[in-house]
Amino acid sequence: MSQTYDAIIIGAGVMGASLAFHLSQRGSKVVILEKKTVASGATGHSSGLIRMHYDLQVEAQLAFESYQYFANWKEKVGGDCGFTRTGFLQIEPRANEAKMRGNVENQKKLGINTSMISASEVKEIAPDFTTDDFDFAAYEPDSGYADATLTTNSFLESAKRQGATLIQDCEVTGIQISGGKVNGVTTTKGVFFAPIVINAAGNWGAQIGKMVGLEIPMVTWTHDVAFLVRPKGLRPFPAFIDDSIAMYGRPEGSSLVLAALEEDSFRNEEPGVESQKTAPEFIERLIEKICQRMPKMEESGVHSIHVGRDGLPPDQRAIFGPAGPDGFYLACGLSGTGFKTSPIAGRAMTEWILDGAPKSVDISSFHFDRFASGKLLKGEHAYGNIWK
Ligand SMILES: Cc1cc2nc3c(=O)[nH]c(=O)nc-3n(C[C@H](O)[C@H](O)[C@H](O)COP(=O)(O)OP(=O)(O)OC[C@H]3O[C@@H](n4cnc5c(N)ncnc54)[C@H](O)[C@@H]3O)c2cc1C
Repeated sequence: MSQTYDAIIIGAGVMGASLAFHLSQRGSKVVILEKKTVASGATGHSSGLIRMHYDLQVEAQLAFESYQYFANWKEKVGGDCGFTRTGFLQIEPRANEAKMRGNVENQKKLGINTSMISASEVKEIAPDFTTDDFDFAAYEPDSGYADATLTTNSFLESAKRQGATLIQDCEVTGIQISGGKVNGVTTTKGVFFAPIVINAAGNWGAQIGKMVGLEIPMVTWTHDVAFLVRPKGLRPFPAFIDDSIAMYGRPEGSSLVLAALEEDSFRNEEPGVESQKTAPEFIERLIEKICQRMPKMEESGVHSIHVGRDGLPPDQRAIFGPAGPDGFYLACGLSGTGFKTSPIAGRAMTEWILDGAPKSVDISSFHFDRFASGKLLKGEHAYGNIWK
């Protein structure tokens, strides 16, 4: 087997898979090297929320353009992504109402189907929600959730049909550089050559960066998620982010409810840690909060809990673009929100690599240089960090 390619992608999470799909669609001969198995990192633990409400306009645009994939998956990619339309509600404390209005107006300019709705309209959409602590919420009828592992596998199956090669159980151990340019990687399965190497190693991205002398400012963000039993008689409700009590949730099929917290999870664990230990009193805190918003959940029970990890840069936004030696690219540190934006991010990265600039969405502000120049990403009507 020839081990010479046009591009090497490190990591078979959803980001690496989207890159493999888009690069191979443009005719590049790519290999994806994965140290464990497909979706064994953050992707396999993702809650899969698909929403477009962001306070940073370019992230809302990434989510909106990616939504076109999720809603038309079969035609655009092939296979299935498991998209389920439930609608999406963004709930903010009253003090953030003006910011939320500003964000909704910005999102409408992008063409996103979103609006501010009153607390009584929320009651119509989610009759079992308490609504006495806010006057308005932002609502997206088209949003919902998808299956991140299925999404990744469909990207990879289509990439393989387009000529891409996937090699699992293959850990990248070093990156070869000659004359200031990358020319390949060393792995537990031998040496692979390519003039382009893309770091799509998620939470391990900083380790890969060190292989080319880059100090990527990123910590490990650990995130605990619970599946709760859906009480009999709980009426329909949309996926939601509730910043007023720092949690989010969504239906999972017809018999479960997925829920998680935005606060007080572990930080800076070893990227490869396998531990499924949750933060102190995670489940007690989660149940208290979800019952605040959905009192009927008092009749629920815990089905299961899982723990996942993603890479978190200081501004809690992904890192995209060239960095370090010629031919080396970053697409990592997706900050606990990168599943829903991965389709168009993979396409924009492909344009950056093959055409010299991202075109579908201008993601140049996500460049690694922002850390040195102090141009950290911040929304026009910023709510503050999502992960507290
Ligand atoms: C619990 C949880 C819930 C989330 N919920 C949502 C959500 O609701 N909506 C949303 O949009 N986003 C969500 N996210 C974020 C989203 O899932 C991630 O941003 C996204 O999956 C990251 O994908 P990735 O490909 O960058 O990284 P990963 O999926 O972590 O993939 C990186 C891969 O690189 C491999 N790798 C690492 N080092 C090497 C090496 N040396 N050699 C070869 N391979 C290597 C790893 O094994 C891994 O498979 C969530 C994240 C978590 C953890």
